[in-house]
Amino acid sequence: GATIGILGGGQLGRMLSVAAARLGFKTCIFEPAGDCPASHVANFHMKAGYDDTDALKRFAESVDVITFEFENIPTSALDALEAVKPIHPNRRALATSQDRLTEKEFLRGLGLQTAHFADVSDTASLDAAIAKIGTPAILKTRRMGYDGKGQARLSSPQDAADALADMAGAPAILEGFVSFTHEVSVIAARNPEGAIACYDPGENVHVGGILSTTTVPAKLTAGQASDAVLIAARILNALDYVGVMGVELFVTAEGLIVNEIAPRVHNSGHWTQNGCTIDQFEQHIRAIAGWPLGDGTRFANVTMENLIGDDIAQIPDIAQSGAAIHLYGKADAKPGRKMGHVNRVTGPV
Ligand code: ATP
Ligand code: MG
Ligand code: MG
Repeated sequence: GATIGILGGGQLGRMLSVAAARLGFKTCIFEPAGDCPASHVANFHMKAGYDDTDALKRFAESVDVITFEFENIPTSALDALEAVKPIHPNRRALATSQDRLTEKEFLRGLGLQTAHFADVSDTASLDAAIAKIGTPAILKTRRMGYDGKGQARLSSPQDAADALADMAGAPAILEGFVSFTHEVSVIAARNPEGAIACYDPGENVHVGGILSTTTVPAKLTAGQASDAVLIAARILNALDYVGVMGVELFVTAEGLIVNEIAPRVHNSGHWTQNGCTIDQFEQHIRAIAGWPLGDGTRFANVTMENLIGDDIAQIPDIAQSGAAIHLYGKADAKPGRKMGHVNRVTGPV
């Protein structure tokens, strides 16, 4: 059988590996860390860094197709891999979403709404950005941020110096604060033939910058729900995208505003494991393997709750509750660390 190469060994790589195995594929994880969630379930683990061109080449030679579970892969590593085997989603999708500035410029270029934004590299450009955008605002590192890391909020221009210090010299963007009523996301898939399948939008609640729960159905009018799906489809088509993508949206009185896109399976899509026949992980494997996309019709109302840090201590109680438990096999429950999630079916559609 064919082997799927997955860059990154976290929980997303783990759940992709499980889905791949169900379809008869083998998986090989590329991940510098020795003991990682995906290595426990994948067939092979290449333990090497992204600067090890030799290891990247051997990895690519040992698999049939390459995908990834996180978007911060250095472009030099992509060069080495792409010379040997195809990578899905493609380089443009990865490069565009790696950098919040190029991401927002791309989205605006498609005619989509984003927060107001400006490039910030020093005190002068931050002052100019504040003059243009105003406060409240959020300063974010252009690269590498996740779970709300690398962000500083400015409630007034007086916060500028502290916020810039938080960026520690990294290039950043200032975003105008969007006063949304709630947040939703669309998990969308596209295969090489250009077929697109979107899951029903989920409603996301963040606590301390980290996703806490996703609930389906989201509070959306029929018009908003179709807008959300059409926005996602436009993004995937524009990138000639193959695989699953998460599209995060703010719901406002002025319509849907795109927050960010993630070129991979997404935490806010975990509810699909217990709400759909084909979940986001299998859908991603199907897309990158050139299979027909599966049926992602939602058959239940579901709330997904992340188990973060010490939340893991609730497992004995949750285990008695009839909820579906998904654990990542991580040893130490550090604060802020995603240890697993729970899907609770709350009723029929
Ligand atoms: P993720 O883990 O989703 O990748 P991230 O670190 O990339 O998170 P964002 O999604 O940019 O961060 O922001 C995290 C959360 O902060 C958002 O889901 C939203 O709740 C809030 N937020 C971010 N940007 C804005 C904004 N411009 N206006 C209002 N709230 C915002
Ligand atoms: Mg993000
Ligand atoms: Mg986000």
